[in-house]
Amino acid sequence: MSLILNDITLTYPDGDGAVVRAVDRVSLRADRGRTVALTGPSGCGKSSVLAVAGTLIRPDSGGVEVGGVRVDDLSSEERAAVRRERIGFVFQHDNLVPGLTALEQVLLAVHVSGGRPSAQRRRALEILHAVGLADAAGRMPGQLSGGMRQRVNIARALVTEPEVLLIDEPTSALDSERGAEIIDLLMRLTRERDVASLLVSHDLGTLGDVDETLHMRDGALVGAPAVA
Ligand code: ADP
Ligand code: MG
Repeated sequence: MSLILNDITLTYPDGDGAVVRAVDRVSLRADRGRTVALTGPSGCGKSSVLAVAGTLIRPDSGGVEVGGVRVDDLSSEERAAVRRERIGFVFQHDNLVPGLTALEQVLLAVHVSGGRPSAQRRRALEILHAVGLADAAGRMPGQLSGGMRQRVNIARALVTEPEVLLIDEPTSALDSERGAEIIDLLMRLTRERDVASLLVSHDLGTLGDVDETLHMRDGALVGAPAVA
């Protein structure tokens, strides 16, 4: 089980009747327990690849498989269910809810997957511990540093036990040391929780020892053979 993109092309209308080819015949595969990094300059199409992988945008052509499920022909409700049950998202901005503690942010996320409240609370506390926030569960967003807020974000994405984790520029709001810690944490949790992670960053410097690095330019992968 893994994330597979097979020959994806995605265009956007540019407003002048022409199209921007944001993703150009991209194939990639991320297996569970591994972190695949996708890098390239701003505007090369990285976030568009993530949006397709996350079933948020339908590509013009090509196939997407999430945890063994082909999503291409699913209805929008079925795609939403795939997102809810199989995919975790971590974006640059944490979008934490003001006025909720770290624990409540995570509880909100686990609530949608159901189960008894006591079990939900146990899972939320366990994942907060795993991201290094055991002692900060009762803090509001304003009482957390940027790195800690990003850890809450990661806890929220993983508490539902997704098979696939999609991560977009998770370090760009952090200094390089904090950024490197977040990347290390993501890679460790990817291994420990057996998640297939696709990590987008324009900044190769913070990526450390990811399992595989793919380079993108003008919508296409460069210097890498098609693998899916
Ligand atoms: P990256 O994440 O690598 O910076 P994006 O995937 O955001 O790249 O963008 C790829 C290309 O698609 C860029 O030329 C961008 O301007 C264009 N683009 C992205 N989103 C849209 C959109 N919603 N409508 C039109 N063009 C878009
Ligand atoms: Mg982007």
